[in-house]
Amino acid sequence: MGKVGLGLAVGCAVVSCTLAAILVRRRLKSRSKWNRALAVLREFQEECSTPVGRLRQVVDAMAVEMHAGLASEGGSKLKMLLTFVDKLPAGDEKGVYYALDLGGSNFRVLRVLLEGKQQRIADLQVEKQSIPLHLMTGTSEALFDYIASTLKDFVEKENNENGLQPGMRELGFTFSFPMKQTLVSSGVLVKWTKGFAIEDMYQKDVAECLRQAMARVGLEMHIAALVNDTVGTLAVGHYYDGDIVAAVIIGTGTNACYVERTDAITKCQGLLANSGSMVVNIEWGNFWSSHLPRTSYDKVLDEESPNPLEQGFEKMISGMYLGEIVRRVILRMGQECNLFGDIGSKLEEPFILRTPLMSAMHEDDSPDLREVARIMKENLGVSDVPLKVRRLIVSVCDVVACRAARLVAAGIVGILKKIGRDGSGGVGGWSKGDGHGKMRRTVIAIEGGLYESYSRFREYLHAAVEELLGKEVAQHVFLRLTHDGAGIGAALLAASYSS
Ligand code: ADP
Ligand code: MG
Repeated sequence: MGKVGLGLAVGCAVVSCTLAAILVRRRLKSRSKWNRALAVLREFQEECSTPVGRLRQVVDAMAVEMHAGLASEGGSKLKMLLTFVDKLPAGDEKGVYYALDLGGSNFRVLRVLLEGKQQRIADLQVEKQSIPLHLMTGTSEALFDYIASTLKDFVEKENNENGLQPGMRELGFTFSFPMKQTLVSSGVLVKWTKGFAIEDMYQKDVAECLRQAMARVGLEMHIAALVNDTVGTLAVGHYYDGDIVAAVIIGTGTNACYVERTDAITKCQGLLANSGSMVVNIEWGNFWSSHLPRTSYDKVLDEESPNPLEQGFEKMISGMYLGEIVRRVILRMGQECNLFGDIGSKLEEPFILRTPLMSAMHEDDSPDLREVARIMKENLGVSDVPLKVRRLIVSVCDVVACRAARLVAAGIVGILKKIGRDGSGGVGGWSKGDGHGKMRRTVIAIEGGLYESYSRFREYLHAAVEELLGKEVAQHVFLRLTHDGAGIGAALLAASYSS
C-alpha cells in the first residue's frame, strides 16, 4: 500500500472512529435523555401515589373536617353550608314548575311538567344561553335584569305555545356559588367563584335581587327554592331513588352535599327546626389535608392561580385542572430532557391542554397512539413525537386521572363514614329493622362531564370506592349518574317547597 493509500486508510479509520464515537455519544445522550424523562415520570408517579393506607387517611380527614365545619362557623376549611332543604322530591309531585340555572358559563331556563310516580317528568323545555362576559363583572342589577328578562321571554313563549293561563308560578333557582342561607328560599352570597366578580352583590340576598329584577320587568313568580347545583343533583337523584344520601359534582369544578341529621349540626342550632335532617353543602373543593399527595406541579399551579391556597382539593380533581397538570409535567419533560426538540410555544401556554384532550390521549387505544400524536401536533404544536414518548405522555395522563379519581373516592367514603354508612358501624349506619343488622342500600348521585365522559377516570373511582369499603360493604353502595341536576333538581325542589 502506498503512502497515499495508507493515508486514506488511516483517514477512513479516523473518520469512522469519530463517527462511531459520535453515534455512541448520541445514543448515550439520547439514552440518558430518555432515562431522565423516565425519572421525571417515576418521581411524579411516586409523589402522586395513593396507596390505600394513604387514602384511608384522606377518608378520615374528610370526616373529621366535616365534623369541625358543622360544629362552628369557620371551624374548618369545609364551609358545611346549611341549605335548609329538609325534604326532597319523592316522585309524586305534580304540576308545572320553572327553574333557573346560573352555573359557570351557561345560564339555563327550564320548565318541567310533573305527572306523579307513573309518568314522572312528562315534559321538559330547556333554553340555554351563554352568559355575556361583561355581565359577569358588572353590576348585580345588570346581571339580574338579564336573568329576569330571559325568564320572562321564556315564560311568555311557553304560555303562548301551551295555552297556559298566567297564574302564580313556582320557581326554583340554582345559584351555584357559595351562599349563607337561613331559609330554603333566600341566601346571601359568600363569595364569587368561576370568574364572576360583581362587587355590589356581597351581603345581598340573592333571591331578593331576583325578585326586584322580576318586578322591574313585570314578571310575577314565587321563588320557592334557592339552591346550588349539588343540591339540585341530590334532588334529582332522590326523585328517582329514595336511598340517595349524597350528591357529588365532578365537572369543571367539584363539590358535594349530603343529608345530615340536624342534631349533628351543632352550629346555628337556633335556626334549625327539629325537622330531623337537612341537606348540607360541603363545598368540598376547598378541602385540605396534609395527607393529600401534592407535587411540585400542584404547588406552582396553585401559586399561579387567581385563588392561591383555596380550592386545594378541586385543583387536584376537577376538569378545570387535570389537563393543566398533565401539561405542566409534559412541558417539564420536554424542557429538561429535550424530548420534543424545539418545544412548540403552544405547550407553554397555561390551560391549553383541556381535560377532554387529556382523556382522548389517555384513552387512545390505537397501537401507534395516533390520537396522542394528532393532539400533540394539532393542539400543542409538537410534531413527530416518537412512539415511546407518546407512551410516556399516556402514562402521565394515567397518573393524573388515577390520583384524582381515587381522591374523589376517598371523599365519598369520607361522607359515608361521617353518616355511618361506610360499614365501620357508626351511628345509624345499618338498619336493624329486619333483625339481621342488614346493610342499608346507599346511593350517591354523581353528575358532571368529567365523570360522565372520562371512562378511565370512572373506572378508577369505582375501583377505589370498592377498595376502601371492601367488597362486602361495597355491594350495598351505588353510584348513580344523574343529568341536569342543577336545572331539573331546582324545579323539583320548587315543587317540594311550592306555596
Ligand atoms: P360544568 O361543570 O361546567 O357544569 P359539566 O358538568 O358538563 O359542566 O362538565 C364539563 C367539564 O367536564 C369540562 O370542563 C371538562 O373538564 C370535563 N369534560 C367534559 N368532557 C370530557 C371528556 N370527554 N373527558 C374528560 N373530561 C371531560
Ligand atoms: Mg354543572
